Amino acid sequence: MKPTVSEVRREKLRRLREGSFDLLIVGGGINGAGIAREAALRGLRTALVEKGDFASGTSSRSSKLIHGGFRYLEEGDFGLVLEASRERDLLRRTLAPHLVHPLRFFFPVYRGATIGRWKLRAGLLLYDLLAAFRNIDRHRMVSPRAVSEVEPHLRTEGCGGGALYHDCWTDDARLVLENLLGAEHAGATCVNYVSVEEFGKGNGKVEGARVRDRDGDGGGFTIRARIVLNATGPWLDRVRLLDDPAATPVLRLTKGVHLVVDRDRIGNRNAIVLHAVRDGRILFVIPWGDHSLVGTTDTDFTGPPDEVSADSNDVAYLLETVNHYFPAAKLGEHDIVSTFAGLRPLVATVPGEAPSKISREDALIESPSQLLSLGGGKLTTYRRVAIQVVDRVTRELAVRFGARFAKRSGTAVLPLPGAGPTDTGDGIENDEIRRLRSLYGPRAALAIDLMKERPELAERLVQGLPYVRAEAVLAAETEMARRVDDVLRRRLGVALRRPDGGGSIAEAVAALMAPELDWNEGEADRRARDFRNQQALQETGWKRRA
Ligand code: FAD
Repeated sequence: MKPTVSEVRREKLRRLREGSFDLLIVGGGINGAGIAREAALRGLRTALVEKGDFASGTSSRSSKLIHGGFRYLEEGDFGLVLEASRERDLLRRTLAPHLVHPLRFFFPVYRGATIGRWKLRAGLLLYDLLAAFRNIDRHRMVSPRAVSEVEPHLRTEGCGGGALYHDCWTDDARLVLENLLGAEHAGATCVNYVSVEEFGKGNGKVEGARVRDRDGDGGGFTIRARIVLNATGPWLDRVRLLDDPAATPVLRLTKGVHLVVDRDRIGNRNAIVLHAVRDGRILFVIPWGDHSLVGTTDTDFTGPPDEVSADSNDVAYLLETVNHYFPAAKLGEHDIVSTFAGLRPLVATVPGEAPSKISREDALIESPSQLLSLGGGKLTTYRRVAIQVVDRVTRELAVRFGARFAKRSGTAVLPLPGAGPTDTGDGIENDEIRRLRSLYGPRAALAIDLMKERPELAERLVQGLPYVRAEAVLAAETEMARRVDDVLRRRLGVALRRPDGGGSIAEAVAALMAPELDWNEGEADRRARDFRNQQALQETGWKRRA
């Protein structure tokens, strides 16, 4: 008989407690997840623990773009653009075509802007060239008169035309999840709701970590590992302090806020590149299904990373710019469906530098205890970073333990699990089934079977969004979702797209998850209540701080 979800988790915890690993990764964001897959595919005994849900940190709060980094051209960072464009095209074509989709951008040029038409044209030519003309399509210049055809609601006053070009968008939390599922297929043990609380040492060198299970009985235990990698993004310095209370901080955290607004209210057809009214920084208005994402801000942040959220200044800064460039929109605070805020885990090299000027490149730091800590990085280039980190880890393992591992993992040709072939089964095809197959790949078969066995699971979870009830069951059964928030915010994109944050369906979702997670009725009710309380805090956070 197939083991239940609880049995699978208990078995994984047992493996963590009793096993011994080549690599223990702390943090289940895109960096940790990508490294776990790379390491497991090269044969390392790999473990990953995440204190909350996978991707609950920065990796679900990004602009959700897989991009070549057009604006890095201005800084002359050709190497970064070359690498990012290659990764973008590889993800879109081969590795994750189910998660990485083309997106057309319009870059308008206004009088007085630092980037004029000619500079834009030259930059985009170079951008196409660095992508070896393998991007979705080549850029196209737009004359001043044609701007209204491209973007009917965009301000035309002072607009000297612009250019259309392509990049991609993704579901950031799912990109993380699929890397973790891929890591597990390759033999890694990845568990959420397990936090590292201190490091185990021998002769001053890190030999593992003391962790706590935050989802079960709260018990603590030790994981033994030859190498420990701190991939905790914005928490990097906090985890370094667990290792060495005298460690000098290396991060400069900056906050990036997005607003979610009904797309009809703005009327943008493409992703639009704008310069913020207040300080000229680049902002995007990005189509996101029936919504648009407006972002992002970039301000220093010194509080606890767990408490990052939008405030009224962030909201005003973003609204001011959208309303300037889309004058008919007249957006007010009441038009905001939701907000989300993330922290850029940037490694500061030049003190006092403006946040937007700090390098987005990754950096690997080794402590005297041999703890490795990874800062920086982007969603787009996660696979390249993972290769470099695992190269370094395998070198260390060879020198220190004489261990040998495969030099390559094959991730350049090995699609993520959901991109795999789908079982066409009995040949039933409709829009619903096509959507499930294109999102979940082989795992869609389980959702389809569930819908056949229990027709009520084929019903929509919530009006106006495509998700069916079977997907909540699938998330608990096959995607390690353990809280209502995990389902509504990161497995399915409900929370950010509903003004009530999905609160009205919290009970329904908890009831769908309950049999998978062995919750009795009281426990399911408690989980739904927890979600609503947390949701209420997030939703009204910036309003309360006004
Ligand atoms: P995180 O995703 O934050 O993961 C770290 C994890 O560590 C967290 O989940 C946390 O819970 C866990 N953790 C912390 N402490 C512990 C502990 N003690 N024990 C166990 N686990 C712990 N990049 C792009 O390519 N495209 C974009 O469009 C883009 N937009 C962005 C927009 C914004 C506003 C921001 C802030 C960043 C954006 N980025 C983008 C960059 C990218 O999102 C980040 O660089 C990336 O997500 C960082 O991932 P990470 O794994 O390092 O950190």
